[in-house]
This record gives sequence, C-alpha cells and structure tokens, in this order.
Amino acid sequence: MTEIAITRTTTPNQPPADETLTFGKVFTDHMFRMEYDAGRGWHDPRIVPYGPFTLDPATCVLHYGQAIFDGMKAFRGGDGLVRLFRLPDHARRLNRSAQYLCIPELDTDVVEESIRALVEIDQRWVPSLPGTSLYIRPTVIATETFLGVHPSSSYIYYVILGPVGAYYKEGMNPVRILASDTLVRAVKGGLGAAKTAANYAASLYGAEQAQQQGYTQVLWLDGVEHRYLDEVGTMNIMLRIDDEVVTPPLNGAILAGITRDSVLRLLRDWGLRVSERPVAIDEVIAAAQASRLEMWGTGTAAVISPVGELGYKGERYVINGGRTGELTQRLYDTIVGIQYGAAPDPYGWTRLLGNRLGG
Ligand SMILES: *Cc1c(COP(=O)(O)O)cnc(C)c1O
Repeated sequence: MTEIAITRTTTPNQPPADETLTFGKVFTDHMFRMEYDAGRGWHDPRIVPYGPFTLDPATCVLHYGQAIFDGMKAFRGGDGLVRLFRLPDHARRLNRSAQYLCIPELDTDVVEESIRALVEIDQRWVPSLPGTSLYIRPTVIATETFLGVHPSSSYIYYVILGPVGAYYKEGMNPVRILASDTLVRAVKGGLGAAKTAANYAASLYGAEQAQQQGYTQVLWLDGVEHRYLDEVGTMNIMLRIDDEVVTPPLNGAILAGITRDSVLRLLRDWGLRVSERPVAIDEVIAAAQASRLEMWGTGTAAVISPVGELGYKGERYVINGGRTGELTQRLYDTIVGIQYGAAPDPYGWTRLLGNRLGG
C-alpha cells in the first residue's frame, strides 16, 4: 500500500445544509495530489488542505489542453454508512483516458487508494439527505512550462470532492433534447472515448444553441454522416423500441460510461433483448411517432435522465407522451437502491468506506 502523507487543514469549514446543495459549487476541506516528472515517475502522494495551484502562464495545459478527469460518487445510506460506487472501474477508465492524451499511466491501486483515503478524511462532508451524494473528481493536468505542441514531461494528479444535491428533487422529470445536424462533439479516431477537457470545450457552442431554442441538452450525432446517435449532453444514450433496448456501440466516438455498463448488465440480467448497434435518427423519429419508444440518458450525475421530447430539423417529437417510461424508472430505482445500500448489491459494485476487502 502506498504511503500517503497527510497534512490536515487548521481551518476546517462547515459543510452546507443538505437541502441547499446544488452541483459543483462547494468543495471539501482537503485534496489529494501527487506529481509526475520524467525520470522520477509519479511521486509524493499526499493529502493537503484544499487550495489553489500556482501555475506559470506558459504551463502547457493552459494552451494545449492536455488534461483528463473522471467523475464518480460516494453515497451515505439510510444506515449511515458511506459507499463508493464502482471505484475500480473509474480508476481503470482514468488510465484509458490517460492513454489517449499521452499522459503517463497511473497505478490504479494508487488512484483507488487516493480516493478512498481522501473520502475517509472528509467523510463528514458526505451528505445524508436522500438523493444527495459526494461527487469525486480525479484529474490530471500537464504542467511543463513551454509553448509548442508535444506531450508534457510533468503532470499533477489531484482529487477534489464536493457534496452535491439531489438531481431529482420532485421525482424524475423528462428533458427536451435537440439533435444537431451540423455541430459535432467528437468523431471516430478522435478523443470521444476519453474524458478529456477538449471534448467539453467542443460541446459548449452546441449546448448554448440548444438552450436558446428551449432544449436542455444536445443529442450529438455522428461526425461523418450526422445520422447516427452518439451521446446526449455528457451522458450515454439508450432507447427501448418495442421490446429491444438499443444503445450505440463503443466505437471510439463515445465515452464508455460506467452507468451505461451498469444499465446494460441489469437489462441483460432481467432477460431483455439488448443491442449495442448504430441507431439512425430516422429510426428514432419513426419509433417516437408510432409511440413505440422510451428514451433515456445514463451518467453518474443523474444516473438516468428520461427524454420527453426530441427536436430535429425544426420539428418537435414527443417521446412516450413526455413522461418517464416504466423501464426508465425501474432502472433508476434499481441503481439508486444499490448505491445507497437500500437494495442488495449482487454485482459487487459498491465498497463500504473503511472496509478495504469490499462491501
Ligand atoms: C462522464 C460521461 C458520460 C457518463 O459516464 P458515467 O461513467 O456513466 O458517468 C458519458 N458521456 C460523456 C461524454 C461523459 O463525459
């Protein structure tokens, strides 16, 4: 096990009341960090008080975006215990993102330990109101000082934590999404399969245009034909057409969502017919018009986000009467039940804090 040096803050903050929590605005007292330098590898793993970095203006991440992150959550159950959801999977995915960005590999045991140790130290920040959680953000940034395009020789890996509010305060509400036939988030052969800063920069303009037209998210279509579904906002997209559940394959243009994986596992275990195959937008529209369609996004933030309306080429299509579908609701309830320890965890997805051998 890695030795993590710990420096505790001398000025701890008071966590805000659970009822007031939103997303991504409040952070805990501590952060984890370690550095990489060519020749030395990753070194100096430590937990320190939360605080700013000092970066030279020529630090390469600020110019060329060599940066990756991941996002996962810890949940406090009705039993008061804290559970980490699919930690090893998130640690592995961080390394896959690193490969795409020419960032040196991290030891996944160290990544897991960094998150575990940090959540343990700041565990009083894990909220307990139903639906709330502690969001965990491991990040790697390139820190060499130079102008010019090549991989950095130095990096900071760090982890920050923040309590976040319930995504659905008054039951699930379906979102309205706009399929763009011009803008593209990522293409096959690009960085779509990495959780990297560039993909979010690429999505801002489209998201703003969608919002101006009254939609909450963009349904990104493939970058070559603008015809096949890729993702929705920062979520994977899934549909039920009659008795088949369909989701786009992991073709290099989309992220391998861990919620996507959890949902596929459940659906297969429930005996449903599941296909990972390309889905054309015309197929979706035809199914919506024939009322044969349920549609939802999957991601750590919302778990499941039902889609109630689809915009495309100036037309609006209502999906499932604008209501949350039965299967959508069942998936949400099942995953949330496992996350908070209210339901059994037959897949070993959760790990109790303070129990290194598993939940
Ligand atoms: C994070 C993310 C997802 C969802 O992944 P989860 O592991 O389920 O949280 C999907 N698409 C994109 C682009 C993402 O950034």
